[in-house]
Amino acid sequence: MGRAATATINLDAFRHNYRLAKSVAPEQKAIAIVKADAYGHGAVKLAFALENEADAFGVACIEEAIELREAGIKQPILLLEGFFTEDELPVISDNNFWCAVHSLEQIDIIARSQLNQPVNFWLKMDSGMHRLGVSPQDYRLAYDKLRSLPQVNEIVLMSHFADADAFGSAITAQQISCFEEISRDIDAPVSIANSAATMEHTSTRREFQRPGLMLYGSSPFEAAQPMAEQLQPVMTLTSEVIAVRELGPGDGVGYGHRFVCDGPTKVGTVAIGYADGYPRHAKDGTPVLVNGQRTRIIGRVSMDMLTVDLTHIDDARVGAKVELWGDNLLAAEVAPYCDTVPYTLFTGITRRVHKKYIG
Ligand SMILES: *Cc1c(COP(=O)(O)O)cnc(C)c1O
Repeated sequence: MGRAATATINLDAFRHNYRLAKSVAPEQKAIAIVKADAYGHGAVKLAFALENEADAFGVACIEEAIELREAGIKQPILLLEGFFTEDELPVISDNNFWCAVHSLEQIDIIARSQLNQPVNFWLKMDSGMHRLGVSPQDYRLAYDKLRSLPQVNEIVLMSHFADADAFGSAITAQQISCFEEISRDIDAPVSIANSAATMEHTSTRREFQRPGLMLYGSSPFEAAQPMAEQLQPVMTLTSEVIAVRELGPGDGVGYGHRFVCDGPTKVGTVAIGYADGYPRHAKDGTPVLVNGQRTRIIGRVSMDMLTVDLTHIDDARVGAKVELWGDNLLAAEVAPYCDTVPYTLFTGITRRVHKKYIG
C-alpha cells in the first residue's frame, strides 16, 4: 500500500563488511562507525546487527550515543568529536562512553569536572587535517596533563586523515610520519585508520580501526581497489514507475524543460525525488535501473518525482521496478553524476522513505 520509495537495508551485507574490516587486523579492534544514524541506514537497527560482534561503536555526539544505550546496546560507544558542553561529562562517565578530547581547553574542563567514575579519553592530534585536534607541538603536554588527572582512565592516541582516499597521497604520508614522531615515546594504544586507511594503508592498522563508509558497502576510492571488490552494498534504494508517456522531438521534460527530446522518447515518471534524498542536481544521464535494465535520468529531479528514459526498456509500464542505487548499481557510480560522494547520498535519505530491514 502507498508510495513505493523504499530503502532496503541488508544486515547480512553489513555484517559481511564489518567482518572484512576486522579481517585486516583480527587481533586489533574495529570500531563500527554508526554516526549520523549509521550514515542514514538506521543506527539502532545496524548496531543490533553487530550486537555480539562489534568491538565498539563510534558516533558524532552524545545524543547519538544515548540513543544506542537506551535501545539496549551494551558495547563501548566512542564520541568521535568528544563533548561539546561541560555538562556532558557526568553523563559520559555514568554511561561509560569513550570520549575524544581535541584541545587543551577541554583538558582544563575535564580537570574541574566531578565524575563518578574515570573516563576513557581519546586524545586527538591534529596531524595535518587542520579541523580538530591538539597541535603536534602541544600533544605531549596535553597527554601528560590528561594522564595526571583522576577523572581519566585509559588514554588512546587518535588522529584522522584528510586524504586517505587518494592512492599514494603525500598528505597521508606526512600525517603518518608526524603522528609517529610525536606519539613514538608515549606508551598508549593508537587509532588512526578510517575506512580508506583500513583498506589501503597497512601501517595505519593499529590497536583500533575506525571503519565507516566501507561497512555500508561503499568504497572510499574512486579507482578499483582489491578490498573494494569484496564489499557488499547495504542500502538498495528503489521505487516504481507511476506514469508513462510517449513524447516527440522538441518536447521538454519537467521543470525548466532541462531535457528536450531529440526523437521519439518514452518517458517514465518515478515516485522518488529530492525530498526523499535523491539529489536534485543529478544530471541528465545519471544511471538508473528499470526492470533491471540500465537507463538514465532525463529532466530535473523534482521534490517527489523524477523522470527516466524508458525508450529502450522492455516491459516499461506503470509499476515497473526502479533501482536508484544498491545491489545492482553502486552509489559510487551514481555519486559523480550528482557532483558528490556516496556519503551524502546515504545520509541524505529522509524519513519519508520506507526502510525495510532484511537478513
Ligand atoms: C566518520 C569518521 C570515521 C569513519 O570515516 P569513513 O571514511 O566513513 O570510514 C573515522 N574517524 C572519525 C574521527 C570520523 O569522524
